[in-house]
Amino acid sequence: MAQLSDDCFAFGGPLKSVDETVALLTSRLQAVEETETVSLGSADGRVLAEDVMAPLALPPFTNSAVDGYAVSGANLPQTGERAYPLAGRLEAGMAPGSPVPEGRVVRIFTGAAMPEGTDTVFMQEDVRLDETGRAILPPGLKQGANVRPAGEDIIAGKTVLRAGHCMRPQDVALAAAMGLSELTVRRRIRVAVFSTGNEIVAPGRQRSPTQLFDSNRFMLIAMLGRLGCHVTDLGILRDDPDAIAESLLTAAAAHDMILTSGGVSTGEADYVKKSVEQVGSLVFWRVAIKPGRPVAMGVIRGAAFIGLPGNPVASFVTFAHIARPAILALAGAQLPPQLPISVRAAFSYRKKKGRREYVRASLRRAEDGSFEAVKFPREGAGLLSSLVETDGLVELDEERTGIEAGQTVSFIAYSNLI
Ligand code: AMP
Ligand code: MG
Repeated sequence: MAQLSDDCFAFGGPLKSVDETVALLTSRLQAVEETETVSLGSADGRVLAEDVMAPLALPPFTNSAVDGYAVSGANLPQTGERAYPLAGRLEAGMAPGSPVPEGRVVRIFTGAAMPEGTDTVFMQEDVRLDETGRAILPPGLKQGANVRPAGEDIIAGKTVLRAGHCMRPQDVALAAAMGLSELTVRRRIRVAVFSTGNEIVAPGRQRSPTQLFDSNRFMLIAMLGRLGCHVTDLGILRDDPDAIAESLLTAAAAHDMILTSGGVSTGEADYVKKSVEQVGSLVFWRVAIKPGRPVAMGVIRGAAFIGLPGNPVASFVTFAHIARPAILALAGAQLPPQLPISVRAAFSYRKKKGRREYVRASLRRAEDGSFEAVKFPREGAGLLSSLVETDGLVELDEERTGIEAGQTVSFIAYSNLI
């Protein structure tokens, strides 16, 4: 399990910016050290534990990029066609055989190794055969055309993937192309998830008229799954400080992180903070983020604790911007860039200076072909439809006091966030 010190999140000050919060979290959280070997087939989404060096150049041998005719490019026709007798035929995978004499061509297919004496390939579409079977090559082709030199993609010994990189399908392809069948990755981090609140009931159970079905837990479990975490669903905790404390303690023994939603505001029935304090240490951060604000951080017996706000949109936004970087740090993964895109706002909006605000928005194509962001018409932090019916978040930084329609804003698609 992660072994954090109780005061690792200690920080003085009433309100923290998102950047400060993330910087503090990612610097204090130590990545899990245990590694394991996985086969390539199960490497997608895993975090590399060590750099990967290319054991092999790619391509490993110089080969033809097209179906055609291979020839020495030294004395190619500059004006007028020239006829070349055929000296052989090479399909992909065949050994190239004896060197090709000057003035001869070899019928060659895509991926076949270039035979000695050739360095240029004419595409078959550009070549005719005369009645004696000679290839008629047109003028004007450059020496080296249509050939993929050995190592043009990757040279042997190069570091191609870095420790901390989270494997994507294209990275898996690269490892496979270099002949690697296994990779050393960090073990998945173990995260326990709870919902809290007497008004919360699991979908499928009997709901009283004053209860809500639990949505946060399923959203958080899904987002943790996408981050490659091993998730334990620990259900819903009643608003009872002793019961919460006991459950937290049990969860801490077998997990690297505990993630809860609800019960971290300043209301009298917000017991999660008190419970964390009973069994561990707590730093309550009012993060300058909207939707969001209250986020509790703590350590319980060496395990990290993050308490997200209960409103589903606040839970979603604080997960994406605060919990996610923390989870990646624990997992030993580099934080990928968020890649916001600049779009025109199709709305005006007032905000408070000094806090970062995220506006739920959809993208649509304007008449001039560029994209503009259309704000979801309502703002409540409990509106799940606002997340479902939009494409991403417009990020308005701390300095801004608002935007006018037509101004350029940063838009982050949900697919880049979670
Ligand atoms: P809290 O942070 O506990 O004060 O909750 C804030 C709001 O979010 C309340 O309206 C709760 O009913 C709602 N809420 C809390 N937890 C969940 C949950 N797991 N699923 C859906 N709504 C929730
Ligand atoms: Mg509550």
